[in-house]
Amino acid sequence: MPKKLVYYFGGKKADGDAAMKPLLGGKGANLAEMVNLKLPVPPGFTITTEVCTHYYKNNRKYPKELKSQVRAALARIEKEIGKKFGDKNDPLLVSVRSGARASMPGMMDTILNLGLNDDTVHGLIEMTGNERFVYDSYRRFVQMYGDVVMELRPHSKDERDPFELIIEAMKKTKGVTQDTELTAEDLKELVYRFKMEIKNKLGREFPEDPVEQLNGAVDAVFNSWMNERAIVYRKLNNIPESWGTAVNVQSMVFGNMGETSGTGVAFTRDPASGENVFYGEYLMNAQGEDVVAGIRTPLAISTLNVQDPAMYAQLEKVRKSLEKHYKDMMDIEFTIQDGKLYILQCRVGKRTGNAAVRIAVDMVKERLITDKEALLRIEPDQLNQLLRPIFDNSEKEAAIKQGRLIAKGLNAGPGAATGRIYFNAADAEEAASKREKVILVRIETSPEDIKGMNASEGILTARGGMTSHAALVARQMGKVCVAGCGSLDIDYSARELKVELAEKTVVLKEGDWISIDGTTGEVFEGKINTKESEILQVLLEKSLKPEYSETYQIYEKVMHWADKYRTLKVRTNADQPDQCSNALAFGAQGIGLCRTEHMFFGGDRIDAVREMILSDTLEEREKALAKLFPFQKDDFYGIFKVMEDRPVTIRTLDPPLHEFLPHTEHEQKELALKTGKTFDEIKAKVENLHEFNPMMGHRGCRLGIVYPEITAMQARAIFTAAAEVKKEGINVKPEVMIPLIGYASELENQTKVVRKVAAEVMEEHGVKFEYHVGTMIEVPRAAITADEVAHTAEFFSFGTNDLTQLTMGLSRDDSGNFLPFYEAKDIIPGDPFVSIDHGVAELVSMAVQKGRSVKPKLKVGICGEHGGDPKTIHFCHKAGLNYVSCSPFRLPIARLSAAQAHLMYDDIQIKPAAKKKPAIKSKPVKKTAAKRKVTKRKK
Ligand code: ADP
Ligand code: MG
Ligand code: MG
Repeated sequence: MPKKLVYYFGGKKADGDAAMKPLLGGKGANLAEMVNLKLPVPPGFTITTEVCTHYYKNNRKYPKELKSQVRAALARIEKEIGKKFGDKNDPLLVSVRSGARASMPGMMDTILNLGLNDDTVHGLIEMTGNERFVYDSYRRFVQMYGDVVMELRPHSKDERDPFELIIEAMKKTKGVTQDTELTAEDLKELVYRFKMEIKNKLGREFPEDPVEQLNGAVDAVFNSWMNERAIVYRKLNNIPESWGTAVNVQSMVFGNMGETSGTGVAFTRDPASGENVFYGEYLMNAQGEDVVAGIRTPLAISTLNVQDPAMYAQLEKVRKSLEKHYKDMMDIEFTIQDGKLYILQCRVGKRTGNAAVRIAVDMVKERLITDKEALLRIEPDQLNQLLRPIFDNSEKEAAIKQGRLIAKGLNAGPGAATGRIYFNAADAEEAASKREKVILVRIETSPEDIKGMNASEGILTARGGMTSHAALVARQMGKVCVAGCGSLDIDYSARELKVELAEKTVVLKEGDWISIDGTTGEVFEGKINTKESEILQVLLEKSLKPEYSETYQIYEKVMHWADKYRTLKVRTNADQPDQCSNALAFGAQGIGLCRTEHMFFGGDRIDAVREMILSDTLEEREKALAKLFPFQKDDFYGIFKVMEDRPVTIRTLDPPLHEFLPHTEHEQKELALKTGKTFDEIKAKVENLHEFNPMMGHRGCRLGIVYPEITAMQARAIFTAAAEVKKEGINVKPEVMIPLIGYASELENQTKVVRKVAAEVMEEHGVKFEYHVGTMIEVPRAAITADEVAHTAEFFSFGTNDLTQLTMGLSRDDSGNFLPFYEAKDIIPGDPFVSIDHGVAELVSMAVQKGRSVKPKLKVGICGEHGGDPKTIHFCHKAGLNYVSCSPFRLPIARLSAAQAHLMYDDIQIKPAAKKKPAIKSKPVKKTAAKRKVTKRKK
């Protein structure tokens, strides 16, 4: 049997459904699903993504069965609608729409009204009795086909669209401003001029044969999979090239038939705030992309309720049934043809971080989803948006008083941003690369602006609604965005924007400061400082009461659920008491890494540190260390007081000593005066400590092994502080962590020093406290011999920064020159310093297994920068780690990611697929962590 390449949707039941996205693309799969839901969808068919893959594997040739399958599907539409494709009397018209698995703005634009030619046009006039409508459709078709398929379009940013120029000229001679004011005769003339333009510029005729038109359009969709825009977009969004796109061919319905027709887009809830209100825009007597193109300003969907309550009620019904079925916020496209509603697309709607969190929480309240599902709905990084800055209110009010509020647009992407104005994406990118804060200001944005948008703090556009390109992309990227700010008069060539206010004209030039509030839509001249989000005001500044902040309450709910399900603990990397209290507010359950050397730089401490380093004898060194001791002890005391009975992992001295010494002659002379050494002695010592490769030099435990008195002083400071707080009734839990070991014997050596001091301190203070000595696993040899190390170690903590550097032979600080190139060339899947590399991950898994083969209950965590990365956190969960440690501000993300990992890999209720094929992974884990199957990361 020949392979099925074409899937019909229409009639009572479609060939496909929503689960078939990989094969039918997102658009095709959901069109099929909506047919199955009995929603009003014009019939059509989908050519599968497999055809696309075949096309590229076979030198852009189609499988031979395709032609007959397309013909058969077309015949089914003809039968259902009762019109024939290419029929002179009553022609079937279709749209040709691209549709990849994930929505892709880089793909081919849709072609509408395909099937019109100089013959069929008469039949359609006859059938509808509406000549103006028919010529409007025809001119749109020729224009779209000429642009998209025949590629007659501007090729540089200064060039104008040739078809638009012809329309403008026509409007000018007719003395009108709106497209809708052109008559049937004018539109007919436009069709003629468009075709002439195509012939003159391209030397080819516009195809009159509908079958040829259809073939051309289908080719164009498949070819667009490999156009530059699509390739860039795939790169940015990690979409594999192998997925391919589908093509949808669908019978036309017409929103441009007059004032009882129209077209619109809507979200079942507000995609910016998440509020449970129907949200959208529409235009009467319009077709296709008119709503988002920003040429006419669309009306809010609530206006439809006034204009045509019956129609609004129909839409409201669709909204309800879609949410009930998909159990999510949906984004829909609809057309009204002469009073009848059609749904042309639906998909899960893009939303801001704020909206994502709010919708998830609300839907649990509405019993549409469970708290587990709610957790899986939120992308961990979206939580970042909730923590994003807002304008300082007093500064904003001052700016309003000073008359600096110059315009108001749509609040398309929340948050506040301030920066310098740039008028095109390339300039914005360039300025941002020089660390300038940039606001990208455009009349409207298009897919080629993506990189510039990504580089900007915020985006401001003069045209387009809440669903315009700028608004959609900004929300997806989590950028601040004010869209459709109609009063801005932007002049690209003069590189300036002008706003006419009642009392003055404001002119802002490239490089001038501007501030935008994406939560309210306000635009301000000049700079306005931003301040913390409400959540930070509640948690850290304590300047806002939780009961006054809805945002905080929603955040709190999500964190509560996350904590309920996660099994992985979260700790923080912090070196000071204030950082520790921030971390506690964000939910830290302990400290995973306290870097003692961060305390060495403040005040007079650095002098004592330098004295210690410059010492020639043990006696001298001990004298200097004695000066450092009280500082260190006080620091630890402060940290223990804040952290109370939570574990605190403190790393002994790690960086090469060289880093603490002065390197200029002036500083060295000063130090000579302070220490009583000669300048030459100091200079010699600094030279002596110089290393060719300090990262692999005398650092980590190697320092404490050569100078045990350093480790002893640090241990004494830790334990004395512990003894003091213990006496105050705090059940302190210090954990001393020895860095950079490669040999088990290194750890044994240092452990002995630490334990001896611990015993002495307990004896001296007459108090006992619990403590542990463990190690950081960051040298590959330590990971490989982890079973040997585990005999001494009471815990492991993976220092994945160094472990990545040393495993890959890759210096993080020197990789900037080639890693981006590697990523662009697909030599590596991503930056190994952001998400853990799977080779390094393998070492981690191995070390966990080996360690626990000796000590089944060995406590294992991660304290590298990777500890706050969602992908890495999933790995840590699967590898059976006990905790991840990250910076305080990443903690909410870590808590959510940890919960998601549990729900995705351990929770059988969430994974119904497990019923059919019981996978080892999804079996309930009832064993101890030690015996838990370690799942290796596959590529
Ligand atoms: P995109 O992927 O850019 O959203 P679509 O394929 O959804 O492009 O097409 C854009 C718009 O064209 C739709 O929102 C709809 O208004 C219009 N359109 C597409 N197909 C049809 C059709 N068969 N009848 C009427 N309008 C259509
Ligand atoms: Mg669409
Ligand atoms: Mg390290």
